Amino acid sequence: MPRPAPAPVPGSRADVTRPRARHATPSTDAALLDLLATIPDPEIPVITITDLGIVRAATLDGTTARVAITPTYSGCPATSLIALAVESRLRDAGLTPAIETRLDPPWTTDWLTEAAHEKLRAYGIAPPTGATRPRCPRCDSPATTEISRFGSTPCKAQWRCDACAEPFDHFKCH
Ligand SMILES: [Zn+2]
Repeated sequence: MPRPAPAPVPGSRADVTRPRARHATPSTDAALLDLLATIPDPEIPVITITDLGIVRAATLDGTTARVAITPTYSGCPATSLIALAVESRLRDAGLTPAIETRLDPPWTTDWLTEAAHEKLRAYGIAPPTGATRPRCPRCDSPATTEISRFGSTPCKAQWRCDACAEPFDHFKCH
């Protein structure tokens, strides 16, 4: 009668070569979405890609994760970084990524979640509201002045608060 194979010794070659998921493998679509909700936006790491509203679909098909992503701004340098981050997070969770880029309908800043607005303000970035002038994310004053059409990234403009004199980024409406 053959003896059962011994369990690999921790730290041994047999142990380290065994693929090990760094994240728990999701077994439901909801758990898959929760996993995606841990991926930060490369440009504004305080918000996640689900806060951004760019994850349009996330379904499991066995261990294949089908994820549809809509890029934010066309030509936004973060788009390919996001796809790479999603791919690597899915692999870390023991899943096979099947990522689809969905261009239609195009993303708008309306897709940012309420949580994203809160997090942006807490981080000192005025979220997009559609108002002509963003309110100061620090003191909430409506008296603000645009300094530069482009901030630290093309999707942000630089403003200054007339009340508290603080400069801040405004996430531009799109
Ligand atoms: Zn202010």
